[in-house]
Amino acid sequence: MTNEGLSINLATVRQQWNLGEAVEACARHGIKAIDPWRDQVAAFGLAESAKVIKDNGMRVTGYCRGGMFPAADKAGRQAAIDDNRRALDEAAAIGAECIVLVVGGLPDGFRDIVAAREMVAEGLADILPHARAVKVPLAIEPLHPMYAGDRACVNTLGQALDLCDALGPDVGVAIDVYHVWWDPDVARQVARAGRARRIFAYHICDWLVPTRDMLLDRGMMGDGVIDLKAWARMIDDAGYHGFHEVEIFSGENWWKKPGDEVLETCLERFRATL
Ligand code: ZN
Repeated sequence: MTNEGLSINLATVRQQWNLGEAVEACARHGIKAIDPWRDQVAAFGLAESAKVIKDNGMRVTGYCRGGMFPAADKAGRQAAIDDNRRALDEAAAIGAECIVLVVGGLPDGFRDIVAAREMVAEGLADILPHARAVKVPLAIEPLHPMYAGDRACVNTLGQALDLCDALGPDVGVAIDVYHVWWDPDVARQVARAGRARRIFAYHICDWLVPTRDMLLDRGMMGDGVIDLKAWARMIDDAGYHGFHEVEIFSGENWWKKPGDEVLETCLERFRATL
């Protein structure tokens, strides 16, 4: 069986390894793609990160993450734009194929989610010219509505695709099954994303029942209630034949296991989803 087609979002092994160790471990397991987080790159060094990624022949299926556009005042929104430009430069330096955007929720003290969503649309439009200049496309990741208050007020694939339609080329979506599996409209929207060639990334893990922590209790594929085989078919039928990226934040379980065991399990369970 093959390891082709699997990418590891390095948050999955963030407690076990630094970026360099994680890249080398992935290479050892025959994994050919990764998606690092900004803090991991910062801790290891941007030039050093670019070098270890290149030396190991890794594809970079995304860079996590930009976004967080809404802020209480103009200065705050400008600071977010500037930070996103820096993130895009870093993404370009490590050869990332897109930047993953978690768009942000409500600024402190705000109750106007409509205004927050407008700030997101404006922020995206503001950073798009820089994204085009450095050739790093924007991948909007809709997040589960439980995060609408603090992390992302873009919560469905349809909503993300409406933003893409308004913005034009070089903007697409990162489809993370964890965030959108529950949506009754999702099949139609995956097909729509495929037709528009806007699927820039595909993230997998599983939804545990019960989920014990809103952020840090994602499941390994096969341990929860998401029909990942049906998802693999759906995404393939939509014309997406890129990497399946495993992204698991698991404070009490997978982050406490040896990294090699985590990667072996990711590989096994990834194959079982195909
Ligand atoms: Zn994701």
